[in-house]
Amino acid sequence: MALIVQKFGGTSVGDTERIKNVAARVARTRAAGHDVVVVVSAMAGETNRLVKLAYEIDAQPIGREYDVLVSSGEQVSIALLALALDRAGVPARSFLGHQISMITDTTHGRARIESVGSDVLEATLARGEIAVVAGFQGIDKDGNITTLGRGGSDTTAVALAAALKADVCEIYTDVDGVYTADPRLVRGARKIPRISYEEMLELASLGAKVLQTRSVEFGMKYEVPIHVRSSFDESEGSWVVPEEETMEQVVVRAVTYDKNEARISVLGVPDRPGIAARVFDSLADAEIVVDMIIQNASHERDGHTDLTFTVPKESATQALELMQQLASELGAAEVRADSNIAKVSVVGVGMRSHSGVAAKMFRVLSGAGMNIQMIATSEIKISVVIDEVYTELAVRVLHQAFGLDAEPSVAAE
Ligand code: ADP
Ligand code: ASP
Ligand code: MG
Repeated sequence: MALIVQKFGGTSVGDTERIKNVAARVARTRAAGHDVVVVVSAMAGETNRLVKLAYEIDAQPIGREYDVLVSSGEQVSIALLALALDRAGVPARSFLGHQISMITDTTHGRARIESVGSDVLEATLARGEIAVVAGFQGIDKDGNITTLGRGGSDTTAVALAAALKADVCEIYTDVDGVYTADPRLVRGARKIPRISYEEMLELASLGAKVLQTRSVEFGMKYEVPIHVRSSFDESEGSWVVPEEETMEQVVVRAVTYDKNEARISVLGVPDRPGIAARVFDSLADAEIVVDMIIQNASHERDGHTDLTFTVPKESATQALELMQQLASELGAAEVRADSNIAKVSVVGVGMRSHSGVAAKMFRVLSGAGMNIQMIATSEIKISVVIDEVYTELAVRVLHQAFGLDAEPSVAAE
């Protein structure tokens, strides 16, 4: 007998028929003798609808009320699933985040889990019931409802699996595993049977939304095996596990893209110590997350330089305003923003032991007529920023060039 945490995403609980199917699957797991804790997302489209409502009232909604609103979708789906389980003859009980002491910090909209209670869930399992837990939500130390950022139900599930020392955390979704590229974009993408936490962490943080980044961080820290699989069939999915020796043989494991960043350039800033600190301090004070940063070599004649960085698209306007204020104080010539960019990345632990990946990536992109605006590398990834209109093309040509296509992709035809 095992303890299994099963998480079902929005599409998997998209209507009442699908919720009944989820109940049937959970019932089968239980009939096989396992204890089950289920985590569910809001029904497909519901969180987007709620977010839109908030913005219809206020362009900068108060975090506390935003979280009360957007966490409500999960309250509906847990109750419906508990009802469906009961109808299927399986005793079940639903729980909101605060009812199981899912304690987070106070960063509304993207709170971090600080601790998870296990007593209530253990007692539920001990009574022979299925616990159905609302994903995505928690409560801070002052009793305010918080949410964990979009896609946060994955993190709820893996955090619960860690707290309960579950044998596995199963992530049921609308694709049957983690692929070498978003299977909706690249027809020839292939399922990756086993992937290391480290690679999955990069893939998630570089745009593959199949798992939320923080869920992988939890999985890695507490060594929770994560099985990403389809809600709609029984096929074996992808396992996210500690790195195995053979994994380094593959140089590029997957290609990802992210269209959610904007580029800001502060041009002609005096090249003096302390300037970069001023720029990034002001962004940090506004809680704007900066991703890539480039500082050009100083313009030789006049001792000025250009500073370019990327921020989430939703922070672009605020970052631009901050930089415009700062530009006059610093004596910078100009500030520019561009939201029509995309970050395309190749990821693989094999890059540690193979050279030439960056050169090949740049050659392939330039061969397809693309201009590279920014570059960032780490031990196991290379990212470039390009014009957003070329995103799909870039992913497809890189997927093909690094030998990941199962069959000729559109770009290769
Ligand atoms: P859920 O609602 O179940 O949480 P998500 O929409 O958050 O599902 O994540 C699943 C989606 O992630 C897939 O539909 C797929 O389009 C996308 N995706 C992006 N990159 C990848 C990848 N490399 N492998 C698998 N899916 C990916
Ligand atoms: N319902 C939330 C969202 O749409 C959380 C999740 O689905 O994981 O982001
Ligand atoms: Mg998701």
